[in-house]
Amino acid sequence: MQSQSVKAKGHALYPNLLSPINIGTARIRNRMMMGSMHTRVETTDRFHEREIAYYLARANANIGLIVSGGLAPNDEGLMELDSLKLTRDADLGYQRELCSAIAGTGVPFFAQILHAGRYAKFDGCVGASEIPSPINRRKPRRLETSEVWRTVDDYVRAAEIAQEVGFVGIEVMGSEGYFINQFLSPRTNDRDDEFGGDWGRRMRLPVEIIRAIRKSMGRDFPIMYRISALELVEGGMTQAEILELAQALEGEGVDCLNSGIGWHEARVPTVAYVTPRAAWAEATAAIRTKVKIPVIASNRINDPVVAENLIASGKCDLVSLSRQMLADAEFAAKVEAGTPEAINTCIACNQACLDMIFRLKPSTCLVNPRALREIEFPTGKAATRKRIAVIGAGAAGMTCAFEAAARGHDVTLYEKSGQLGGLLQLARNVPDKSEFDELIRYLSYRVKADGVTLKLNASPTAAELKGFDEIVIATGVRPRLPELPGVNHAKVAGYEEILSGARKAGNKVAILGAGGIGFDTAEYLLDEGRREPDAAQFLAEHGIHIASDLRGGFDRATRVDHKPTRKITMLQRTPGKLGRTLSITTDWIKRERLERANVETIAGATYQRIDDAGLHILLDGKPRLVEADTIILCTGQDSERGLAADLDRAGIKYTAIGGAHVAAELDAMRAIDEATRLAVGF
Ligand code: SF4
Repeated sequence: MQSQSVKAKGHALYPNLLSPINIGTARIRNRMMMGSMHTRVETTDRFHEREIAYYLARANANIGLIVSGGLAPNDEGLMELDSLKLTRDADLGYQRELCSAIAGTGVPFFAQILHAGRYAKFDGCVGASEIPSPINRRKPRRLETSEVWRTVDDYVRAAEIAQEVGFVGIEVMGSEGYFINQFLSPRTNDRDDEFGGDWGRRMRLPVEIIRAIRKSMGRDFPIMYRISALELVEGGMTQAEILELAQALEGEGVDCLNSGIGWHEARVPTVAYVTPRAAWAEATAAIRTKVKIPVIASNRINDPVVAENLIASGKCDLVSLSRQMLADAEFAAKVEAGTPEAINTCIACNQACLDMIFRLKPSTCLVNPRALREIEFPTGKAATRKRIAVIGAGAAGMTCAFEAAARGHDVTLYEKSGQLGGLLQLARNVPDKSEFDELIRYLSYRVKADGVTLKLNASPTAAELKGFDEIVIATGVRPRLPELPGVNHAKVAGYEEILSGARKAGNKVAILGAGGIGFDTAEYLLDEGRREPDAAQFLAEHGIHIASDLRGGFDRATRVDHKPTRKITMLQRTPGKLGRTLSITTDWIKRERLERANVETIAGATYQRIDDAGLHILLDGKPRLVEADTIILCTGQDSERGLAADLDRAGIKYTAIGGAHVAAELDAMRAIDEATRLAVGF
């Protein structure tokens, strides 16, 4: 229980965000909803235990409303063959156990009914038509008219089962390009029957589903509908159609509309870090002007001030927090306590959540390795208090230090430079990556709040570390110098010199290496420095016109291209597409941005030498000169283990983590996970 004064602090800062609201008969204590997420937790061991612990951690920390991951109304509607469903032959005993656990917290728990349609990842998927999705090689089977009506009945049965097992309400998933959305859009609906042919018939499916559910469930059962507020695909709904649909659904008895943004196949980033916070608020606001029921804004809302302003300005009634609820289970409690500095902010990297889903692995979170793995981490204090030294205050070292201190240990964190953050300090300078500021802020806050003794500008020797019970080497990496004639030429620079701003690149640049750092460096050089995500600029770059009659709300022909200020060439030695090792959900964004800025890419190059003229390479067996004033090395890194070698010589035991452990590709996800697991084991 929070004290009245603590509550008052949060309410003074966020009066709108913390005010209660009703969704139908469900009372919501604040305006924060944990949105539905597909996590694949059902594919893991001890799944029931994991999922209950995951939801309970969020419910116990004062989130207003939770919507479950998608539950299929029938077998055809499954996302994967082992996905969960709300059918008579499903494991309803588990759903009862889950609902009962959440009911004990008093937080309303809604079931999301999701029919995957042509996005289903198994042969035999179905849809409005036989038109396949560009992101799914499987051709859907077109449902017959009678089968569509049977599917309407399946939705009703799923809603009835949801209520029987203890869900307080439901959300019908009608956006993101799933089954219902596929009927709404001429992009995927080429039918000429009761469910297609003109707009009135295309919108019939969701209207019939809501009408039938309302009829069966009565007026008191809360029904939310996730409407596609902006389609972002060619041939998608127009805004006029979306607004008409919103009113029709309200007329059929929907209690609340949640905003979905963009189909999964949209070639516009909708949630990645390049998308500015709350970029889609106008799409939600347009719906809110047309209906009287509450409307929820979603996507890239990870900050209480942003959320408060959205509600205060009348753009929405609630906010949906999805990935932010992976990043920090206690987000809502920290908002109520008025301690935003303590929030672990989602940096919109997608690395440990969406990327994992696309790789058919379970989700977690880069900044919070406990997400969906709560049961793997012990809580409380360690039995014995140890003296622990952590050397290096990058992501791994800071995390290890405060996690160990939180377990009750006496921790000293040494950092050779004068600031915290390590390579995160470079990452935050990459255009649109200012969310890294939040990660540095959070890690720094925890180091202080958990009582770590911090020693900046300090490089302890092996002898000085001798008295500690545990020594953790988190000294990171050093850039690798390739064996290449001319590598010491004056025009050669390291990526760290460029990204830190210590050195300015010339007008013609060659970048050696096309891993994450190579791409970051190229993007940095497009703008020379930080670029804060800006909503107007973002919408213009992607040709998005929210309030328009354009199908899908965008027009690629109107995209405003970036004007490059220098000639950039990126090279890699391996043949094939550049950036293949990057994030599966964001690599295309980076590649497209560089392509549109006329960055030349060369794969399969053999580097021969560097001289006054530039970089000499062999390409397809032929010599070629890449003229360059500046040649930037992004050619990998080696673990920085000088101190570790001293400790080895002195026979002192230690554990290396993060880049000091494995330097193959800089990987903050592994570093933070490794650091957390080590610390809680001390
Ligand atoms: Fe956010 Fe990245 Fe965590 Fe996903 S992995 S929830 S995008 S911080």
